[in-house]
Order: sequence, then structure tokens, then C-alpha cells
Amino acid sequence: MEILTNEVKITGVKINYFFYCKRQLWFFTHHINMESNSIDVEIGKEVHEEYFNRNKKEIAIDEIIAVDFVDNNGIIHETKKGKKLDRGDKYQILYYIYYLQNKGVKNSKAVVHFPLYNKKEELELQDNDIRVLKNAFKEITEIEKSDKPIEVQKMSKCNRCSYYELCFS
Ligand code: SF4
Repeated sequence: MEILTNEVKITGVKINYFFYCKRQLWFFTHHINMESNSIDVEIGKEVHEEYFNRNKKEIAIDEIIAVDFVDNNGIIHETKKGKKLDRGDKYQILYYIYYLQNKGVKNSKAVVHFPLYNKKEELELQDNDIRVLKNAFKEITEIEKSDKPIEVQKMSKCNRCSYYELCFS
């Protein structure tokens, strides 16, 4: 499988970081991890545990992806604490579908649950998403192999990023 023969392991978290901020991805892939400082991440973990401990435990596959729950039809279920998916969340989940398809699971859908807002959203992997993901695999490999991060760029999301102090102090 293309992803596994890559010289760089493409994990679901890397896909998320790639779409969130490429500088953040570089920090993460160079083991500069500040997630423990993030209140958002802690809340997310609590929502996930509260919601899915009533169902089944998270499934880690090949140390590449970690899916909250897969039902009997092969449909992936994920929980999110926020009101909607950002681009990183969306492609991380689409990557789960793609990865599982490549493992032989015949399914192209995921359901995302937003328990704090009592709503859910369906995602379906389309051909165009696969093209986007394949481009991301190439860029992630280049970023990870680079010996320095891309230049810092101030964005509105920087204020709630766990790497803020590293970028702006
Ligand atoms: S603070 Fe901003 S530039 Fe720095 S890693 Fe976070 S999102 Fe990226």
C-alpha cells in the first residue's frame, strides 16, 4: 500500500496538523509536542471518553490511525467537542476511510457526532478527496524531512494553538 511504503509514516494526526498549520506539523514530526498544554485537547478527550466509553473503545490500527468506533457496516464513528469540523478534522476522518478501504473494508462513509450540540454529520470519501490526500502525503513527507519549519505566519487560530509561545515569544 502506497502509504506504508512511504519513507515517512503518514498518521491521522499528521494529516490533521498538515491542514491546520504546516509549521505545527513540523514541530510535531520533530518531537516538539506541546499538546499537554492545550485545554482544548483535554476537553476533547473528556467528551470522547464520556461518549464512547458507553459503546466501544477506540481502535488503533497499525499505529497509523485511531478510530473511535466502527459499526457492523464498517462505518466509522468519531466524536468532536466543537460545533463543526475544521479542514484538518475532515481530512483526518476521510483519511481513516481511505486507510481502511486499503485494508479491505468496503465502506466510504463516516459519521461525526457532536454530543455537546446534539447533532451529527456524515462524511463520504470522494475521488477528489483521495487526490487531496495523496498530495498531502507528498507534502507531509517533504515537511518531515526538512531540517527547519516554515516561517511563522500570524493567523487567527494561533491564539488558541498550543505552540503559540514557541512561535511568538
Ligand atoms: S501558533 Fe500559529 S504559526 Fe505557530 S504552530 Fe500554531 S497555528 Fe502554526
